[in-house]
Amino acid sequence: MPINEDNRGALPAVPVELVSARPARIVVADDDRIARQMLVSMLQKAGFVVDAVDDGQEAIELIGRGGVDLALLDIVMPRLSGLEACRLLKSMTSEAFLPVVLVTAKTDTASRVEGLKIGADDYVCKPFEEEELLARVGAMLRIKRLHDHVAAQRAYLEQLSIHDEMTGLYNYRYLFTRLNEEFKRAERYHEPFACVLVDIDRLKALNDVGGRALGDAVIRRVSEGIRRSVREVDVVARYGGEEFLVVLPSTHFAGSLTVAERIWREAAGNPVEYGGSARPFSVSIGVALYPSRDVRTKDALIRAAESALHQAKREGGNRICVFQQHGQIYTPAGSAEPGAPLLSGKRRRPSDPTFVAAPEEPREPPSRRSGEFQPFPLRKPL
Ligand code: GH3
Ligand code: MG
Ligand code: MG
Repeated sequence: MPINEDNRGALPAVPVELVSARPARIVVADDDRIARQMLVSMLQKAGFVVDAVDDGQEAIELIGRGGVDLALLDIVMPRLSGLEACRLLKSMTSEAFLPVVLVTAKTDTASRVEGLKIGADDYVCKPFEEEELLARVGAMLRIKRLHDHVAAQRAYLEQLSIHDEMTGLYNYRYLFTRLNEEFKRAERYHEPFACVLVDIDRLKALNDVGGRALGDAVIRRVSEGIRRSVREVDVVARYGGEEFLVVLPSTHFAGSLTVAERIWREAAGNPVEYGGSARPFSVSIGVALYPSRDVRTKDALIRAAESALHQAKREGGNRICVFQQHGQIYTPAGSAEPGAPLLSGKRRRPSDPTFVAAPEEPREPPSRRSGEFQPFPLRKPL
């Protein structure tokens, strides 16, 4: 399945092939100038865009540049014959269908048979009638259009099948394909790699207040915020109803926190409109990193992100927790108090991980200065 360069999610646009029709472009290859000109003028008169060349090699080069809908090849040509050019064109590993029509002498049955065997789609006998030539070209182009339409539709549906319709982000199924690939790559190249799991706080309550429409608006708002917060290479997927997973290839600890913080701020700073006023909402975020002592596998990475997210929820939501090696979970505190400590630690029970006191549900995003996640390295467990 093709991988988009931009992974941040946007439903694929309807392919051009499904919405517009342009005049067909035909390449004519014939070393006989008079025959070539006759072909060109017949095709141009019929409304086609025509490129004429005098050998098979040039035809291949021209077709290789793309945008050609049909090739009309004379068989006997210098450098590369029509048959050889046809063989090359048909062996090109392209999913697109390029009809190849051979132009042969009426008496040359052997060439016609060989041409058809190596994949030519039709042939026209010299000397040819204009009517027959145009009919054969028209028939081939109809088949090509049908083929292109089916191929474009299949590619479009393939894209739709890996996206979530409501948000345009990748869906859960596709996420795991990509997660596997990114994990393998991280393992092979010893690259760091992070997962950020985002969950909307109390979405059920928002649904109760404003119906599914309000809940849906919040889900969309969060997905837009995530999209704005990440790079094109980062993979963003809707992980569950109101959960999102962001895969951050080649990302270190500080980088993953920067992304998590951006996502958290986007949510806190972009309330949705409801009943004539702004309805604030917040998200909780769990961050996990590979490699770390407790995170050696893809499943462990996801488990760690989930564990950190659950801890953020247990702590009251609207905060970020980072799963760290040695089984620690930290909550970087985005305090609304300017100058307040940014990351402090409060140990609960000797066996517990170390937690950090987080601010009381700040509805306003904290100031840039107070929200920075700076004071690393984190504490070691006692
Ligand atoms: P918490 O702060 O613990 O995350 O509470 P919560 O209510 O967000 O989470 P909980 O897991 O208890 O419930 C998830 C809610 O998300 C319940 C479900 O109705 C809502 N939800 C899931 N998918 C959608 C959706 O597509 N649209 C809307 N509007 N709501 C959804
Ligand atoms: Mg949830
Ligand atoms: Mg939730």
